[in-house]
Amino acid sequence: MSAASHEALRAELNRKKEELTLRLTKITANLRRGYEADSKERAKQLEDNEVVDALGNEARTEIVKISAALKRMDTGDFGICIECGLPIDEARLEAYPYADECIECAEFDERRRARP
Ligand SMILES: [Zn+2]
Repeated sequence: MSAASHEALRAELNRKKEELTLRLTKITANLRRGYEADSKERAKQLEDNEVVDALGNEARTEIVKISAALKRMDTGDFGICIECGLPIDEARLEAYPYADECIECAEFDERRRARP
């Protein structure tokens, strides 16, 4: 990967991370809003909060992955599969910039997870 596209990708990851952090802040703020006194309302609110919490977890997971990718950029390990140590396909990195595994290892993991 060229130095220029490397920098462009870093900027993109930083932007995405900021966006997710902001989203997470909003989600957390929503969760912290006081519960309604009415029990019916409260049940509904708890349900909403579960959805909101799931969204928050999703954002958190993504932030962790992006941070790890940025760190790998600093250490020069970016674009190298953490499983087998081979370079990750550039097309894969373009589609999924914080991929830490090559397509073969990712597919292997998926098959392993899919196994009952
Ligand atoms: Zn691999």
